[in-house]
This record gives sequence, structure tokens and C-alpha cells, in this order.
Amino acid sequence: MSPSNPNPKNRPPANRRRDGRSSDSALPSQRRRRNGGRSRSRSRATASAPRQAAGVPHANKYPALESGSHSADAFEALGVSPTLARAVHAAGYETPTPIQEASIAPLLEGRDLLGCAQTGTGKTAAFALPILDRLANRRQDDGTSRGPRPIRTLILAPTRELAIQIADSFCKYGRNTPLRTAVVFGGVGKAPQVDQLRRGVDVLVATPGRLIDLMGDGEVRLDAVEIFVLDEADRMLDMGFIRDVRRITGKLPRQRQTLLFSATMPGEIRELAHELLDDPISVAVDPVSSASEPIEQSVLFVEKADKPELLGKLLEDPEMTSTLVFTRTKHGANRLVQKLERFGVQAAAIHGNKSQTARQRALESFKAGRLAVLVATDIAARGIDVKGISHVVNFELPNEPESYVHRIGRTGRAGRAGIAIAFCDRDERAFLRSIERLIGQNIQHASLPEGFRPSVAVAPPTNERNERPPQRRRGPRPPFGGNRRPQGRRQPRR
Ligand code: AMP
Repeated sequence: MSPSNPNPKNRPPANRRRDGRSSDSALPSQRRRRNGGRSRSRSRATASAPRQAAGVPHANKYPALESGSHSADAFEALGVSPTLARAVHAAGYETPTPIQEASIAPLLEGRDLLGCAQTGTGKTAAFALPILDRLANRRQDDGTSRGPRPIRTLILAPTRELAIQIADSFCKYGRNTPLRTAVVFGGVGKAPQVDQLRRGVDVLVATPGRLIDLMGDGEVRLDAVEIFVLDEADRMLDMGFIRDVRRITGKLPRQRQTLLFSATMPGEIRELAHELLDDPISVAVDPVSSASEPIEQSVLFVEKADKPELLGKLLEDPEMTSTLVFTRTKHGANRLVQKLERFGVQAAAIHGNKSQTARQRALESFKAGRLAVLVATDIAARGIDVKGISHVVNFELPNEPESYVHRIGRTGRAGRAGIAIAFCDRDERAFLRSIERLIGQNIQHASLPEGFRPSVAVAPPTNERNERPPQRRRGPRPPFGGNRRPQGRRQPRR
């Protein structure tokens, strides 16, 4: 197989609409996943491709599995096979989200796709369903069917957490198919990953560094890849992975279907998209600037030195059952966890310096509700899909306003109401102004609990709409547990 030429103009057209019977009769090896239904995302999608999957054939798909299948008509109407639709229904989804509506049919037809969408929109199912459908219903056409099955779909994700989530979704949606999914990422031993690869996988989800490592060891061959997905491309860029991505795409066959997702589209990503994609459809879901609409937001103006104690105070509120706290730096996250512990609050930090095991353990405890407070940096938290996060606290405001929107998007996901509280010290006023410009609204000022000084640089609110009288109990509740009896006065630590 010849290496790919990154210039699409020299690339032969993708191998599209090749029909065939399901090629694999092996039993499914996927783990059964817990179901995790969500209500439909509120975002809207626009696409430059037809939405209806006219003529996508379904007769005789996984015939043995059809009896008793639940009809999930909205997905089937998009062209998803009844078997996959049944798995989707079992996951609790009744209606496709906007990105699913816009993407599934053209992807089933083999189109390339450029998706401007972030995690939380249902984008994983938007690409996983058509990929599973195509893989399960097309014969491998390279004629080399001896040996372990080759990797037919490669998905690159920037972080381990996102890679695991994507692989989980493939297992969940593909549970009634014989397709095998594996995930590889760094920070853990290679041996179990190598074992899995040697047994053969159809769908490989990988972070770039570990994949290159395994390719160097001769454990991964990409010459049978039919579908390639680059997820969170802008994050790849931020994390310095773009060269690795190019090295990997250089090993992919020229004939393939390619999907590229990115929450933002900086110039370098557009350039990459131009190189990798062949006549793609474009799908845009919820521009980042409007994603914050259903979330109750407030800002507390506080001295920097008082922030840890203020957070400790807020966390006394029993309604803060599952709180994700954002800091700007890894060290800041570690320090905050220690300080919270001194206030009797058990918390854990996740960031790039933590071992994979420590991150996974913290995340699992948080997801299971055993840990009420998780402190994270942007990169570690990006793409994390934890259901039912009650509060997001911006302990430090991000200097990129888009990050604020990504952060608060962790709460109130897929239609649930969430609460986002920001701490703003005197040095962060400019960040706050940029955020308010981006989201097109002023964030409501909340008053500090007794005993805390407002940061002196803060002028009293001039906009009446934003001012919240301390005793007012209508509308959004105060973030510091206004539903409880008053706590004893505390002096902030210096
Ligand atoms: P994603 O953007 O892929 O991370 O998905 C965000 C969340 O939405 C996940 O928890 C999915 O399980 C959930 N989800 C995806 N598609 C649907 C759907 N059609 N209806 C309800 N929830 C969905």
C-alpha cells in the first residue's frame, strides 16, 4: 500500500458506496456498558449536505439479530440500521441530536466531513453510528483476509480520557455487532494494548504519542484503514500534536473516508482540513459563544488570597453534590486540593502531570459520586463526559474566553440545568470582560458570604440588571448555599 499523498488533488476519490455483506462472523468481544441516556442536546446544526439518507439500504443487515428489536424510527429514518438503532435506544436516546441529524446520512454515503462541534453535542454517536454501520455491512476488500483482522477505522483523540470515552461509545453502540474496538494511550504499560492489537481490532481509538510508539514497534499497521477520524483537532494543535498527526496521516491509505472535528477553526486547522478532506460536507453545531445559554452563571469578585477559603465555604452547600473546579495551572490544582483538605473538603486533581491510573481513579470516583469535588485544568477536563455535574467553579478565570464556555459546558450538559460560578480577582477583570463579550451577556454579580472582602478593584455594579441585592431570593439561588441557615462568621485566611 502506498503512503498517502497529503494533497487531496493528487488523491484518488475515496472508496465510496461499496456495498457488501457483513464479513465477520466472530462473536462480539465488547464489554457491556452501563446505559447512560441523556435528553436531547439543545444545539442547532447547519450542514451543507442533504439530511435524508435516501436509498441507504437496510435489508438483511445482521438478520439474526433483528427479532424483538426495538424500533428507533428517528435514527432509522437517517439510515441507521435497525440493529444499531436498537443499541442507541437501549442507551436511552430517542431523537437524534442536531449534529446527528446533519451528519449521519452523508457519512453513511461515504462523504468526508468537517465538523465544527464540541463534546456534549452528541458528536460521538454522530460519527460512531455511520462508521459501525459501514464496517459491519461492507466486506473487507483488500483480499488479505488471513491473520488477525486489520484496523479498518482509526480515531485520533488528544487526551486519554476522551479516547476512552470514544471507545466506550463504540462498544455501547456496537454491542449487537461483531466489531471489535480497542483504545491505546500513553502513561500505562503497552503489553495489554499490544495483546489486544494482536488479537485484531476493527476500530482503534488512540492518542497520537502512543500510536506512533506502537507503529514504531511494528504493532500497528494502518494500511487497511478505510475511515479516519481526527477528533478535537484544535486541542491537538494546542497540545503540540499536529506534527504527530501528520506523521500518522502519512501512513494512511489514500483511499479513505475522513472526518475532522474541531470546536474552533484556527488557520492551521483549516489548512489541515484542506489537506486531509476530499470535498467534505461542513457541519456546524452551536457556535461556542452561545453554548452557555441554559446554564445559571454568576461571578463573585474576591481577593485572590481569599479564593480557597471562599470555595471551602461555598462547598458547605449540600446542593453542590458534584463540583468541577477549574484552575489555570497543574500546580494551582494540586495546591488547591491541599488547601481544601485543610478545610475538611475531600477533593482530587486531574491534570497532565498525574499518572494515568491516578487520573482514571479520580475520574471514576467523581463519576460514581464518591468524590464530590474534582479540580482540573482545561486540557485534562476537555471532553470529559460526566453526567450530573451540579456546579462548575471557575476558581481562576481562563485567559482564553472560549475556555470559559467549554468549562461551564461540563455542567448542565445535554439539556440539564447547571450552575457555573466564577471567581474574579482584581487581575482577572480583563478576562471577565472578554468572556462577557464572547457570550454576549453580562454575568450576574453575586454577593460574597459574610466575612469575605470583595476585591478592591471591583466597581459597584452599574448595570441594574446585573446587580443582585444580597437578600433577594427570587431567581437564581446564591451560589454559597443561601438555602441553609447562616454559618458562623469566618475570617478569610491571609
Ligand atoms: P458527546 O458529544 O458525543 O460527548 O455526547 C454527549 C452526551 O450526549 C453523551 O452522554 C451521550 O451519551 C449523549 N447523547 C448522544 N446522543 C444522544 C441522543 N441522541 N439523545 C440523548 N443523548 C445523547
